[in-house]
Amino acid sequence: MLAHPSGADKRAPPTATTGDTRMPELPEVETIRRGLERFLPGRRFTRVDVHDRRLRTPLRPAALRRRLVGRRVQALKRRAKYLLVELDDGSVLVLHLGMSGRLSCTAAEQPLAPHTHVVFRLDSEKELRFRDHRRFGMLFVVRRERLDRHPRFAHLGPEPLEAGFSPGYLFERSRGVRRPVKNFLMDAAVVVGVGNIYASEALHRAGVHPNAAAARLRLPRWQRVHAAVRHTLESAVVAGGTTLNDFHSVDGREGEFQVQLDVYGREGEACRRCGRVIRRLVQSGRSTFYCPGCQR
Ligand SMILES: [Zn+2]
Repeated sequence: MLAHPSGADKRAPPTATTGDTRMPELPEVETIRRGLERFLPGRRFTRVDVHDRRLRTPLRPAALRRRLVGRRVQALKRRAKYLLVELDDGSVLVLHLGMSGRLSCTAAEQPLAPHTHVVFRLDSEKELRFRDHRRFGMLFVVRRERLDRHPRFAHLGPEPLEAGFSPGYLFERSRGVRRPVKNFLMDAAVVVGVGNIYASEALHRAGVHPNAAAARLRLPRWQRVHAAVRHTLESAVVAGGTTLNDFHSVDGREGEFQVQLDVYGREGEACRRCGRVIRRLVQSGRSTFYCPGCQR
């Protein structure tokens, strides 16, 4: 659970139920990565069955089979919200869950759930299954050395939980940027994986108004924003991601993860820190929640 400054409010935490887009964000993808790490490394793909080609980029079953069958999984990594399954021939199976994608590691005899697109049979008793009823997910294979130049990856900024993301970086990167700080933080070219919920929460924690122009923030404020982004994402990774309707963890459980949200989804409720009423505004078509008392 996300700690909040007062530490006194023990009511049930709100979850994201505001009708805003619900999709797996970076902490959820990292949770899935950690879950899959128990099953995949060291295993070999023995079969690949495509049941439905329709994803954001249509699947090519023969090419997938040719590139995956017989390959052994060496490691499981993540870049932004992409899962990277590194294989023993120097290629990488890239998976993106889109809006509603779900990965499960299931016993092979389990019946297929509806909307299962791909089944990867492993040389164990298990299958890795990818399903996505809204079909915004993606799945492709690329050579590892080409990954950084791939059109999906070439423009990506630093990882928020790694060293390239620092207060100094944010300060330099934001010079001359008039966009609101929230939009700036959600720009994958600036930093990857800071989604709508976590951007709202981090700015509240940092005490920065979401509409403040990025260029107007001086270094001490970026230090607070940086620390708040780190804290918010790390807490969510620890908690296993927020509970979102369409999100399922890797072994099929759902609804176990709860992150306490201090502003997101709490329009009209009292700020836990200062007692003022939480407000909502719309920025670039997305809901932003903030406290007019704490965030200036
Ligand atoms: Zn407040």
